[in-house]
Amino acid sequence: MLQVTNLEVVYDDVALVLRGISIRVAPGQIVALLGANGAGKTTLLRAVTGLLDVHEGEITKGSVSLDGTPIHKLRPAAVVRMGIGQVMEGRRIFAELSVEENLRLGGHTSSGSHKERLERCYSLFPVLATRKRSTAGYLSGGEQQMLAMGRALMASPKYLLLDEPSLGLAPKLVEQIRDLIVQINASGTGVLLVEQNATMALSIASHGYVMENGKIVLDKPSGELLADEDIREFYLGSH
Ligand code: ATP
Repeated sequence: MLQVTNLEVVYDDVALVLRGISIRVAPGQIVALLGANGAGKTTLLRAVTGLLDVHEGEITKGSVSLDGTPIHKLRPAAVVRMGIGQVMEGRRIFAELSVEENLRLGGHTSSGSHKERLERCYSLFPVLATRKRSTAGYLSGGEQQMLAMGRALMASPKYLLLDEPSLGLAPKLVEQIRDLIVQINASGTGVLLVEQNATMALSIASHGYVMENGKIVLDKPSGELLADEDIREFYLGSH
C-alpha cells in the first residue's frame, strides 16, 4: 500500500501548499487525483517521489509510506529503488538521446535483465520499437508520452505516478494512453493518475480524490464521483 498521511508541504518556508493530505493507493489499484490548476496535485507527487527538494519545497508534517516503511526522507533514486516510478508533467525525456538510450537510463537503478525489460517495454509500446534509434526530441507528443511511461516502467515499479499524461494530446491519443494505463495496471502495477481530464481518469480508476487549495475535498469511489451531477459540474468541469 502506498499511503500519504496528514501531509503538509511548504515552499520557500512560507506558503503552505498541502494542508493535511491523506490518500492511499492499494497494490494493483488505479486511483485518480483531480483538481483545478494550482490545487497542489504536482506538489503531492513531488512529496512522494522525493523531488520537493529541487523545488525548494519541504514536508513540515505527516508522512508517506510504502508497505508501512516511511519513504518521505528518501532521495529520488532511492524512491525509485523502493518501487515507485514517476512520469512528470511535460514528459521530461532526454531530447538529444535516442529512444533506446532514454529507456536504458530508466532502468539503470534496478536489477534483472535489461534486455527483458526493454523487450517488455517494446511489446507494450510497439511504436517505440520501430523508432528505437530515433532522436527522442523528434517524436510526436503522444510518442514522447509513451517514451516517458516506458522509461518509468524500465525500473519495474510497484506503483506508477502519472502527472497529466493526456495533456495536449488529441482525443484519439488520449484514448490510446488510457488503454495503455489499463494494460500497465493489469500486470499488477498500482497507478496514481493526476489528470485534468477527469472523465478519462475516472473511467479507469476505482477511486478518486478531488483536491482544492491543498486539501482533499472529495474522497469517493469513481462511480459515485461520475454519477453525481453537482460534483461533475462544480469539481470536474464536465457534464
Ligand atoms: P497544475 O495542474 O497547474 O500543475 P497542481 O494542482 O499540480 O496544478 P501544484 O503545481 O502542486 O498544483 O502547485 C500548488 C501551489 O504551489 C500553486 O499555488 C503553485 O503556485 C505553488 N508552487 C508550485 N511549485 C512551487 C515552487 N517551486 N515554489 C513556490 N511555489 C510553488
